[in-house]
Amino acid sequence: MSAKITFFPVGNGDMTLITLIDDTNILIDVNIRTAADNPEDDACDVASELRKRIKTDDKGRPYVDVFVLSHPDKDHCTGLQNHFHLGKPNDYVDEPPEGEEKKIFVREIWSSPMVFRRASKNHTLTEDAKAFSTEAKRRVKQYKDNYGVGITDGDRILIIGEDEDQKSEGLEGILKKQGEIFYAINGTHSTAAWMRVLGPFSLQNEEDEKTLVKNHSSIIIQFHIAADASHQDACLFLTGGDAEVAIWNKLWAKYQYNLDNLKYDLLQIPHHCSWHVLSFDSRSQCDDPKVDADAISALSQANEGAFIISTSRAIKDDETDPPCYAAKQEYLKISKNFRCTGEYPNETTHEPMEFTIAVDGIQPPGKKKMSAGGAGIAIISEPHSHG
Ligand SMILES: [Zn+2]
Repeated sequence: MSAKITFFPVGNGDMTLITLIDDTNILIDVNIRTAADNPEDDACDVASELRKRIKTDDKGRPYVDVFVLSHPDKDHCTGLQNHFHLGKPNDYVDEPPEGEEKKIFVREIWSSPMVFRRASKNHTLTEDAKAFSTEAKRRVKQYKDNYGVGITDGDRILIIGEDEDQKSEGLEGILKKQGEIFYAINGTHSTAAWMRVLGPFSLQNEEDEKTLVKNHSSIIIQFHIAADASHQDACLFLTGGDAEVAIWNKLWAKYQYNLDNLKYDLLQIPHHCSWHVLSFDSRSQCDDPKVDADAISALSQANEGAFIISTSRAIKDDETDPPCYAAKQEYLKISKNFRCTGEYPNETTHEPMEFTIAVDGIQPPGKKKMSAGGAGIAIISEPHSHG
């Protein structure tokens, strides 16, 4: 089957599913709000939409191969406890209470080291974020207690980005540092995708922690996704949670002479199209707020025909931020192929936005149209090829 990337409409929040050619799926963040779970409410039922796109294992459990939490903010982990199994694999509930669905089993977690920090004045956590943190710690302990031997589905974890030296000790086998590339997905060398870690940068002291928290330091990954066995890098997907301007400025300093590290065919705009991804200036407190040229450069490494996605509410020409209208204008300078989950297919009805990765490039959600013969349905889309 074709590889796909699906952006779920979750307001100002992220929930993105990558499905690879070998059926492996990677879910980045969740934001399943009460309205989406309420059949009486017309918000898109994103939990059902997710379940339609994932498979069931031989024990009858719906599962994702990987759940990535970009950072532990509310709009990236809401609904985690309600919809996902957290805890030992053996404690999975096979027969959920009447009216409830089976929870989604998470084979492997990719976590930032930020969740191991205790909640502090810099860092407060919601119940879902706490539950994620508890689960990540359980898996790390399992790894350490067993010296990394015999870790199986439901216990696997990778730590993306390095914490203070002594805190990462003993975790070398599951640590992927900033700048590293890796091929392992759920314990197996993947031939369907590989990953480059761009963030978070390492965390060495409390000052770093403050800076990183303030800038919504997030897991940033450049995914290289295959369209088939002979088209390995058919889609470069760049996703970076809510990482803000200081982080992108730093990425430019590091990679300006090595642009391949920042290239993309599909960009998930950081922080729901917030102005603070592009500028150090406040729009409300500054007469003439300027964009940061370096951060913009880091985010401008679009391959020809690239798509740029704002995972946010509809973008209006007003003072709202995020999503910020002025920020959108900056992204439009990078690529005209701009999409917003809060405007798809229109501002009142929302559906998942699904991109297909074809050998000749990525294809946005197709417009359904009768084919010339009048028999069946043809998908008209806008493919792009690499220049
Ligand atoms: Zn966010």
